[in-house]
Amino acid sequence: MSFKFEIIKKSSSTKARRGKIHTNHGVIETPVFMPVGTQATVKSLTPDMLVALGAEIILSNTYHLYLRPGEDLIKKFNGLHDFMAWDKPILTDSGGYQVFSLSKLRKITEEGVTFKSHIDGRKHTFTPKSVIDTQLALNSDIMMPLDICSAYPSTEKNIRKELDITHQWEAKAKDYWEKKHNNHWLFAIVQGGMYKHLREKSAKTLIDIDFPGYAIGGLSVGEPTDILEDLIAHTTPLLPENKPRYVMGLGLPENLEFAINQGADMFDCVIPTRLARHGQVFLEGERKNISRSEFKTDSKPLLDSCTCYTCKHFSRAYLRHLYQAKELLSCSLLSIHNTHYLVNLVRNIRHAI
Ligand SMILES: [Zn+2]
Repeated sequence: MSFKFEIIKKSSSTKARRGKIHTNHGVIETPVFMPVGTQATVKSLTPDMLVALGAEIILSNTYHLYLRPGEDLIKKFNGLHDFMAWDKPILTDSGGYQVFSLSKLRKITEEGVTFKSHIDGRKHTFTPKSVIDTQLALNSDIMMPLDICSAYPSTEKNIRKELDITHQWEAKAKDYWEKKHNNHWLFAIVQGGMYKHLREKSAKTLIDIDFPGYAIGGLSVGEPTDILEDLIAHTTPLLPENKPRYVMGLGLPENLEFAINQGADMFDCVIPTRLARHGQVFLEGERKNISRSEFKTDSKPLLDSCTCYTCKHFSRAYLRHLYQAKELLSCSLLSIHNTHYLVNLVRNIRHAI
């Protein structure tokens, strides 16, 4: 099976494009929102629920699965698809982001990064090759190379230093991936913090190395929206026209639409399920907490126009009751709605292109 990205249609008024990515586990239509299944599960949702709400591809986290249950176990099941009973495409990140956000006492060298597990404090090392090997064991359809997700805020000097190491790691990852001759896609990750000229440098360096797809990493890390948008608008058009473009960690409705209009194709975020666990739901153009007293006797669905399972069957009053009573079903029902909301939002924008 060979991989292919095709652009089917381009918007006449913006830089948005509509496309298809062919993978070992089927075709993904883009632009696409990818729900996040950190621990080989999108929290509180079964694969059937994900299919029903329209998910075409999910993202899973190499860092978490490497630490627990470990790649050897997942390899015994021929990879993540069989292990978690999800037969559609999976993208795995490289673990870099979690190493830099969750673990303590990191040591970065040109060879890789040594860190202490956030679970038991034991020492581990990720190298550009080792994270490819782990992702091959997970058998994901799209893999990401090890990178440094720079802190925000950070100095230009620091970012420059981290960017040089990231580029060395990505070059090694590309070499190793080519030697493996496997059927998995490897995307590059453009970094460079909040500095446009460093983003340009990163894009140029990685385009010279030539990857099958390109991601923009290190955004949505706490920067103001105007900076986020400015960098997306600046960086996305620098990436090759004929390859998938993925903005990592993006999940707020207004950000998704903006990025699609700049020519981005793929997005992921934990936001729909994380918000659901805290009772936050997407309503018409706003977010509200289901525990608000205004919903106490409200017989309407969360959204009249929503076609998700939750909105087809349950009232706001019932959902409020479940959340107030800390019932487990609350998490699933609110996650179905929130995830459907974002998947569907991106799908509707896609259809309008
Ligand atoms: Zn709904």
